Amino acid sequence: MALFGKLDNLDAGQTEDQPNGKEISDVEKTRVLIIGSGPAGYTAAIYAARANLKPMMYEGLQPGGQLTTTTEVENFPGYPSGITGPEMMEDLKKQAERFGTDIRFGLATDADLSERPFKITIDDKKIIETDSLIIATGATAKYLGLEDESKYAGSGVSACATCDGFFYRGKDVAVVGGGDTAAEEAIYLAGLANKVYMIVRRDVLRASKVMQERVFNTPNIEILWEHQTKGLYGDGVVEGAILTKKKGTPEEEEVMLKIDGFFLAIGHKPNSDIFKDYLDTDQVGYIKTIPGTTKTNVPGVYACGDVQDSVYRQAVTAAGTGCMAAMDAERWLAENS
Ligand code: FAD
Ligand code: NAP
Repeated sequence: MALFGKLDNLDAGQTEDQPNGKEISDVEKTRVLIIGSGPAGYTAAIYAARANLKPMMYEGLQPGGQLTTTTEVENFPGYPSGITGPEMMEDLKKQAERFGTDIRFGLATDADLSERPFKITIDDKKIIETDSLIIATGATAKYLGLEDESKYAGSGVSACATCDGFFYRGKDVAVVGGGDTAAEEAIYLAGLANKVYMIVRRDVLRASKVMQERVFNTPNIEILWEHQTKGLYGDGVVEGAILTKKKGTPEEEEVMLKIDGFFLAIGHKPNSDIFKDYLDTDQVGYIKTIPGTTKTNVPGVYACGDVQDSVYRQAVTAAGTGCMAAMDAERWLAENS
C-alpha cells in the first residue's frame, strides 16, 4: 500500500512567491524530494521507492554524478571484474526507476527550508513543495584550471588517490597541494607508487603538524617547494609535468618532471550553496549531520554522500548514507504525518 506520494498539482493559474522574489506558477507537491543523482541519491531513491514513498528526484547538471567522469571502478562491492563508472550509474538508475522513482532532469536553484512543506525551486521556474528533503548534491574537486587537466582526464589526471592510486603501482606520480588532503593522498600513494612528488606552491605546507611529520618521514615522498604547474605532456597519457620553480623571482626556472600520474589535492567544494541560509555547515561548506545519522539541523531535511562527507568521499560510503537518509526520512514522515 502506498503510504505517501500523491503529487498534488496546484490549480491552474495558482502562483507562489519564489524565495528570490520571482513569481512562479508551476508548483507540485511530493512527500520525498531527492536532489542529486550520484550513488547517494540513487540509493536513497531505491530505499524510499521500496518503502512506497514514491520519491521525486532531480538529477542536476551531471546525471549519474562524479562516477560518470571516470573509467574503471574497481572498489564498489558486487562487481568482481570492475565496471565503468557510467555503466554502474546506469544500473543504479534502472534500479531506482524499477521501484517507481520519478526521475527528472533539472537543477535545484533555490531553497526555502524555513517552514514545511519545504520549497525547492527548479531551474528558476518551478517549485517543488516537499514534506521531506534528501540532499545528495555531492562535492566537486577543485582543479587548477589548466587545459591539460581536461585533455588528460582519465589518462593520468585524477582528483582521487583512493580511487585511482592502484593503477600507478610501482610508477612515479605527483600530488598537487600542501594541505591535509594532499599530505594524506601523498602518503597513501607512497604505499603503492615508486616515487611521489608533492608540488607545493609556497615554501611551507598548510597541512597540520602531525600530517607534515608523516610526509617528512615517508622516504619515497619528495616535496618540490615553490613549484607551480604550467602544463602536462605525453602522447595520449600523462608522461610528465612542466613546472615553474620560484615563479616571479630572479631564480625562476622551468622544470620538466617525468611522472605517470598527476593527482589534484587542492580542495573540494561541497555543492551546498543554496542551503547555507538554513543548514549548518563546516568552514568549507560540508553540511553538518548528527553523527550516526543523516539528520541536519532542520527536522525533515537529510544530507547524504559527499556533500556531508569531507573524510571518505567514496561511492560506497555515499550509497551507504543514501540508504540511511531514506530510512531517516521514512521514519520522520511516519512520525510527523
Ligand atoms: P556525486 O556523485 O557528486 O553526485 C552529485 C549529484 O548531485 C549529481 O548528479 C549532480 O548533478 C547533482 N547536483 C549537484 N547540485 C545539484 C543541484 N543544485 N540540483 C540538482 N542536482 C544537483 N569513488 C569510489 O568509491 N571508487 C572510485 O573508483 C571512484 N573514482 C572516482 C573517479 C573520479 C574521476 C571522481 C571525480 C570521483 C571518484 N570517486 C570514486 C568518488 C565518487 O565518485 C564519489 O564519492 C561519489 O560519486 C559521491 O556520490 P554522491 O552521490 O555524494 O555525489
Ligand atoms: P586546504 O586545507 O584548503 O589546502 C589546500 C592546499 O592546496 C593548500 O596547500 C593550498 O596552497 C593548495 N592550493 C590551493 N589552490 C592551489 C592552486 N591553484 N595551485 C596550487 N596549490 C593550490 O584543503 P584540504 O587539504 O582539502 O583540506 C580541507 C580541510 O579538510 C582542512 O580543514 C583540512 O584540515 C581538512 N582535512 C583534514 C584531514 C585530516 O585531518 N586527516 C585530511 C584531509 C582534510 P596554500 O597553502 O598555498 O594556500
